[in-house]
Amino acid sequence: MKQNVRYRISAAACDFCGVCVAVCPAGAIELKESSVRVLDELCVGCGDCAVMCPLGVPVREEAE
Ligand code: SF4
Ligand code: SF4
Repeated sequence: MKQNVRYRISAAACDFCGVCVAVCPAGAIELKESSVRVLDELCVGCGDCAVMCPLGVPVREEAE
């Protein structure tokens, strides 16, 4: 995780297209058949997943 930013991906809103996995420079998105999540320890907070997701699923959060 970079600074206090992290990204959340809601599996309920996701169609598992894999775009975010393809664009993530850190290999920080784990996508399985019906689940997806950001691995916070690998995420560098670049926001590429949020920009590229066709459904706008990844959301930026300020960590506490
Ligand atoms: S790009 Fe968006 S819709 Fe596609 S797998 Fe990632 S979060 Fe889900
Ligand atoms: S913010 Fe960047 S590093 Fe983090 S999951 Fe999204 S694409 Fe990967």
